[in-house]
Amino acid sequence: MCVPIPTNDSEWDVKTNRWRSIVSQKHAAQAAGLGTIGRHSLLITPEFGSMVWLGTVLCSEELEADELKEPICNNCNLCVEVCPVNALENPVMNQQVCWDYAFGEDNETQTWRIACHKCRDICPYNLGSENSFIK
Ligand code: SF4
Ligand code: SF4
Repeated sequence: MCVPIPTNDSEWDVKTNRWRSIVSQKHAAQAAGLGTIGRHSLLITPEFGSMVWLGTVLCSEELEADELKEPICNNCNLCVEVCPVNALENPVMNQQVCWDYAFGEDNETQTWRIACHKCRDICPYNLGSENSFIK
């Protein structure tokens, strides 16, 4: 039996001040050998960098995992420095500060929108280590 867990199936946890799903998609992806989590707290894959949208399928069958990837993030700190609200200044990102700034209603269009992904854009691996501007 398999159960799909979509990306947007998460709730705000008042105890930890973090968004929580029943499974961490990023950690599941890392454990499945798809990539590694960078300083900006996003998954970085060798092929597509952080330009990925994750989903998880929980299965009762035993499946063979791919090998874990070597860490891709080089700790260049560019993502930390570019964040307009310093949400990444501590080792554990401040999700509340990020979400308050980066997501929500657009007053003009009255639609939900993503207003910031500077940490993703500036990462040298945002299009994958194969396309990195750091060689
Ligand atoms: S999305 Fe924007 S606000 Fe959030 S951590 Fe990245 S740079 Fe900072
Ligand atoms: S910008 Fe630098 S420190 Fe941040 S995730 Fe990318 S490689 Fe890591």
